[in-house]
Amino acid sequence: MALDDEAFKGSSIDRRTFLSVAAATGAALALPNAVAAEVEHPALTDRAAFVVNATPDDYEVPVVIEFDAAAGVPEDFETEYTDPDWGVDDQTAPPTAVTRSEPTPAAHARLDADELGSVLDEFDDYVEAVAYSMGANPWWHLEDPYADGVFPPVEESRDWLSFEESVQGIRYLEEEVAPDRINFYSIGESPGWNNQFTSEDPDPNDVYVTEVTNDVDDEASFDEKDKVVYSLNIHGDERAGTEAGCRIIEDIAYGEAPDFEELLDDVVLLFLFTNPDGWVSRKPETEIPWVADHNWNFQRGSASGLDTNRQYPTMGWTDPSFWPAEPVDTPDVRPDDPDGRGYHEMVPDSLAIVEHFRDYDNVEFLCDYHGMYTADHMVFNLETNAPFTHDKTHDLDEVSIQIGEAMADEWGSIEAEPLASDIIAASETEYGSPSLPGGDSYDGLLDWGTIYDSLAYQVTGAFLGWAGQPEEFGGLGAVTVAPEVIISNHFGDAIKVWKPYWSRHYETAYRLSMREYARMTAAETDATVATDGQDTAYVSSDELTRRSADLPHTNESPGQGQGPGQDRATEVRRRHETVQPGPDGRSSVNTSAGESAHSLFVHFQGLSTATQGTVRLVNPAGNVVKEIDLADRDVRRHDFEDWFVRRPETGDWNVEINTDADVDVQTTLIESEGAPDPRDTLGYEQTEYVVNPMQFFDDLEPFVEDGDVNGLRVHDVRNGRLLRGQSGRRHYDKLVVSHDDGIDDDRYISAIEGFVEAGGDLVLTDSGVNLLGVLDVGDAADIDGDDVSDIEVNFANLEDRDFDHDLLAGIRPRQQEMWKGSQLGYTTGVDQPATVVDEDVFREANGEVAGTIGGEGVGAGRLAAGDAEITVLGSVLPPAQQTELHPFGMADYAVSFMGHTLLCNALGFQQRRYVDGELVGTYGEVR
Ligand SMILES: [Zn+2]
Repeated sequence: MALDDEAFKGSSIDRRTFLSVAAATGAALALPNAVAAEVEHPALTDRAAFVVNATPDDYEVPVVIEFDAAAGVPEDFETEYTDPDWGVDDQTAPPTAVTRSEPTPAAHARLDADELGSVLDEFDDYVEAVAYSMGANPWWHLEDPYADGVFPPVEESRDWLSFEESVQGIRYLEEEVAPDRINFYSIGESPGWNNQFTSEDPDPNDVYVTEVTNDVDDEASFDEKDKVVYSLNIHGDERAGTEAGCRIIEDIAYGEAPDFEELLDDVVLLFLFTNPDGWVSRKPETEIPWVADHNWNFQRGSASGLDTNRQYPTMGWTDPSFWPAEPVDTPDVRPDDPDGRGYHEMVPDSLAIVEHFRDYDNVEFLCDYHGMYTADHMVFNLETNAPFTHDKTHDLDEVSIQIGEAMADEWGSIEAEPLASDIIAASETEYGSPSLPGGDSYDGLLDWGTIYDSLAYQVTGAFLGWAGQPEEFGGLGAVTVAPEVIISNHFGDAIKVWKPYWSRHYETAYRLSMREYARMTAAETDATVATDGQDTAYVSSDELTRRSADLPHTNESPGQGQGPGQDRATEVRRRHETVQPGPDGRSSVNTSAGESAHSLFVHFQGLSTATQGTVRLVNPAGNVVKEIDLADRDVRRHDFEDWFVRRPETGDWNVEINTDADVDVQTTLIESEGAPDPRDTLGYEQTEYVVNPMQFFDDLEPFVEDGDVNGLRVHDVRNGRLLRGQSGRRHYDKLVVSHDDGIDDDRYISAIEGFVEAGGDLVLTDSGVNLLGVLDVGDAADIDGDDVSDIEVNFANLEDRDFDHDLLAGIRPRQQEMWKGSQLGYTTGVDQPATVVDEDVFREANGEVAGTIGGEGVGAGRLAAGDAEITVLGSVLPPAQQTELHPFGMADYAVSFMGHTLLCNALGFQQRRYVDGELVGTYGEVR
C-alpha cells in the first residue's frame, strides 16, 4: 500500500508519526482516519507514551516538555499554546500551556493525542524530552523545580496536587528547607491498584505523615506538646484538605505562615495522607476494577473497594460489612470472609494509621477533612460520634465559633464576590445547576452539628469516631471533627475537572479551619457548670448497666443462664454482586434467612449514577419492606445507601434492582441466637466493658462550680434520702430519674412526690418519663400511664422545637440529634428508644412543649408543681444496646453538644466557657 501525503491532510496525525507508530507496533496499516491516534516519538518517555496511547484521543495528557537549551522555547509554541492574558478571575480552566525560560527552557501543557502529535511534529527540532507530569507545579518533574516555590498558589496551579509531587515536595521541604521543623515519613502502605504501566499488581502506595513543630527532633519536647492531627484526604475524591495542608506545610517551612509561627513552640501539627489509593487512582496507569474504562477520577475509597472512612475499630455497633482495622491481635484470616482474606490485605492503611497514632501523647484535636456536594452552608463541621466530658464538649463547640468568625472576617458573607459567582459557576459545571448556599449561620459560610444534623445519615467505623473515643477503648481521646466543604464531590462517573477559580476558596476555608484548630490546641480552655450552690441527686439503677459478661459468648462470669459452654456459634453469609441494567443484567440478589437469623444488612454503591427505577427489599412473604425511588431527585440520596433488618423472617429475602446504572449490592446475613460473637465474624475477641449512662453525672461533677452531684439508689430514695428526716426540708434541689426501675414501688414514688412537694425540681429522662403516669403531684397528676409511650425511632432528633423555651437556650436550629447511637450499640435502623407524652394531654396539663420526638409526642417540655418544675427529656441518656455486633466495647453515654446542653438546661444550670482564662460564653441561666 502506498502512502499518499494527501491522506494526512486535515487528519489528526502526521505522516511521520503514523509511520513511527506503525513501525513500532507492527500494526496493520490503515488510513489515518481509521487510526486510533497512537503517538510515538523518541523524545517521549515510556511512561508518557504509555499514557497517551492507553487513553482515548481526547484525554488531555499532562506533559512537561523540555526544549533545547540554546534555542529556548519556540516562539510559535508560545503563540499557539500559551495565554499571556490568562487570569483566574475570568477563566474556568488553566491555559493549555505555561512556559519557563530559566533555569531550563520548558513548557507544561495538557494536550490531547492530536495536539501532542502536532507539537512533536512541528517542534521536532527543539523538543528534547516529553515526560508525563500530573500535578500542580508544572516543573516538579524537572531539575530545579522549585525556583518559584514547591506548591504553587491554587490560582496558578495546573491541576490538583498529585501524590508523587506532594511526596517529593514535602521531602524537599524536610531535607532542604526546614529540617528542624519537619519530619516526613511513611507509616505503612495502602492496598494498591494494579499498575498497568509497570505491571505491578498490586502497586501499594505509602501512607505518609508530616510532623511539623519547632525542634521537631527534640523527643522530650515533642512528646510533651499538644498535638493536632489533620487527616487530609481520607476520601480520595475530596481534595480540599490536601490542597490546604500541603501549602501550609510549605509556608511554615519557609517561615511565611505568621499565624502558625507563634504556635510552633507549643503545638505539633500532624498532617496525614490518609488514603493514597483514592488519590493516585486519577492516573491512567491505575486499573480500577469497577470502572470498565478507566475514567481518571479520584476514588472515594482504597483499592480494596472499601470506604476508607468506615474501617476503624469504633466502640459500640460495628457493621459486619466493614473491616475494622484493629492492629492488636489482628487475625491472619477473617473467619467469615468467603474469600479467606485478612485485614493486612484489605485495610493495611487503616491498621498502620491506628497503630501509629496510638503512639503519640497528647493528641488534643483530630480534624478529618472532607468534601460534599451542595449544602445550605459552604462548610459544615461534623461532630464526632464519640462521647466527651464537659470541657471537651465545649472545645468542640467553641472551635466552630472561632472558624465561623474567621470565615466571616475573610468573606463577610457567602454573597461576597468573587466567592458567590465562583460557587454558582462551579456548581453549574459540576452538577448542572447553579446553587448558592442560603443558610444563615455566619451568612451561609459555616454551620455545625452532628453527622446526622448535617448530612442526614449516620455511620459506624469512622476515623473520627475511633480517634475520639477514650484511650482505654483504643482511641486517642482527642476532640474529633469532620469538616465538609461544598462542591468537592462528583456525581457518578462525571469526571472531576480542576477549577482553580473555585478551589482557591475551599483551600482558603480549610486554611482558616486548620489555623483555628491549631490555635484551640494551643489555648488553655476550660468549662464549668454554675449551679448557685444547688445540689443534685440522680437515681442510679443496675437496670441501666450493660456488661460484656452478660453476652452469651464471653468467658467472664456468666449472666442469667447464658454462660459459655452452650453452642451459640455465629454464622455469616455474604454475597457481593454488581447488578447491570438491561435485558441481560441480573435484577435481583437473594439471600436465605434461617431459623436463627439475627440481622440482615444490605449495602449499595453506585446509586448516585442511577436516574430512574427503584431498588427494593422484599421479604419471604413477598412484601416490599424497604424501597428507594431512584427517579426522585428531590430526596437527598447517598451513593452508599444501606438497609438493616433486625431478626429477619425465615426464608428467601430478595434485593430487587431495576435501574439504569451498575449497582453494587452487598448482603450480609448473620445467624446467631444472641448477640453475634465477634470471633466468628470478624475474628476479634470481645472487648470487656461495664457501662451505665449515669456515668454522665459522675463525669459532670468535677466541672460543677459549687454544689454536689450524688448518685442514689431506688432503695435510698424510698428510704427517705431525698429529705432531711420528717422536717420537710430537702437534701437536694434537683433530682434526675432516667429509668422506670421502681415505678411499681409506692414508697419510692411517694418519696419523689414528697421531694417535689417540698419544692425540689424533678428531671425525667428516657424511660424515666414513664413516672409521669404514676406521679400524683402538680400538673403531672393529670397525666396517666396511657398518655406516655415507649417508642423506637431512627434517630433521637428533637423536632417541632420552640427556640424561645429556656430548655433550648444555646441550641441552634441545625442541632437536632440529642445523642449519637452507634457508640452505644444502636444501628442506623429504627432502634433508638424514646419515651414521649401525648402532646394534647401534656398541653391540657398546662405543660410547655419545647419539642417532639418521632412525630409521636412531647420529647422536651416542662410541667409545674407549685414552685417546683418537672422537666421531661424523652431520649438523651439511654442504656447501651447489646444486641448487635460490638467487638470494641461500649460507651456509657453519647450525648451530642445539644443533648449535653439540654440536660444542663433541664437542671437549670449555666454552662460557662473559658478560653485562656477569659469567659467567652455562657449557655442557659441558673434557675
Ligand atoms: Zn468524605
